[in-house]
Amino acid sequence: MALDNNWFSEPHENMALSLRIKQKLHEEQTPYQKIEIYETEAFGNLMVIDGCVMLTGRDNFIYHEMMSHPVLYSHSAPKNVVIIGGGDCGTLREVLKHDEVQKAVQVDIDERVTRLAEQYFPELCDANEDPRAELLFDDGVQYLQDATPGSVDVIIVDSTDPVGPAEGLFSTAFYKDCVKALGPDGLLVQQSESPLLHTESIIRPMHDSLRAAGFIDALTMHFPQPTYPSGWWTCTIAAKDAPVSFLREEAAEEATFITHYYNAAIHRAAGATPEFFRRKLFA
Ligand code: SAM
Repeated sequence: MALDNNWFSEPHENMALSLRIKQKLHEEQTPYQKIEIYETEAFGNLMVIDGCVMLTGRDNFIYHEMMSHPVLYSHSAPKNVVIIGGGDCGTLREVLKHDEVQKAVQVDIDERVTRLAEQYFPELCDANEDPRAELLFDDGVQYLQDATPGSVDVIIVDSTDPVGPAEGLFSTAFYKDCVKALGPDGLLVQQSESPLLHTESIIRPMHDSLRAAGFIDALTMHFPQPTYPSGWWTCTIAAKDAPVSFLREEAAEEATFITHYYNAAIHRAAGATPEFFRRKLFA
């Protein structure tokens, strides 16, 4: 992380994303990671963990909607949802827009992320008091190891990058525990980094590990994310029993809740595979 002349910069692979900041609002080192909060000139508040942008007030809606709605509309009856990570609560808020969700457990290793989100991103924490929500502060790897077999319909892995506390969330052993915890036709979705920068280093190994763990299909979906490295991001949906498909397309067309990015057409388009990506992934 470099902070120079009122610019926050996140350098990555010989390029950098920079946001002009008004002021630093908070900084602390937790037992797990360093968290910083800034007020930016044009992107609202900014949360940074270990030097990496987690979210800004202005563009987080794209990521949070794509981490929740495509996977929920790809499951026939998503009643029990587990979110691993996601401590800023933005994904939880989107998940709870679905009336068919009866319980959503959010398991973040670091309670400080949630407490700071409540303070600096209160709009993301709107649904925290929903009686269907349960907030736990624990290691997601351990949580899935201990989960009752067959008890979860959808697992959403909304974690930091695969270093530090999140490293285990990208492993075959973790995915095996996910397969065990999922009920019939269970689905997992995981944030899977940039298609431009990470196809060989992260996305392809992720597909291999998901299959090695027992998932029978995986589909990587693409969406813009202006404040993440390269401005382009993905999530990968993995299916336990049947190929990933837009099962409840009609329900998505007729959704009664408000979204700002997601709709059924976006869902269909996000699942299309760019040529370079197809070659790198399946070569
Ligand atoms: N949207 C973000 C991104 O892709 O950069 C992710 C945001 S969310 C704040 C990431 C969360 O993952 C953090 O709050 C962090 O504490 C949590 N996390 C990392 N490793 C974890 C683990 N092993 N178990 C549970 N939560 C974990």
